[in-house]
Amino acid sequence: MSDAEGTTPPGRPCPRCGETMVHRHCEYVCPQHGVIYDCADTFY
Ligand SMILES: [Zn+2]
Repeated sequence: MSDAEGTTPPGRPCPRCGETMVHRHCEYVCPQHGVIYDCADTFY
């Protein structure tokens, strides 16, 4: 992999619907629900 997203891998599933979320800078955006996590939240 040559991904440069940082320590968090892209393509995480949405915890609500399982849809693959888009990792956009410090946010995760679900196509169904919008922003799920952002940099103010605790990343796990
Ligand atoms: Zn979702």
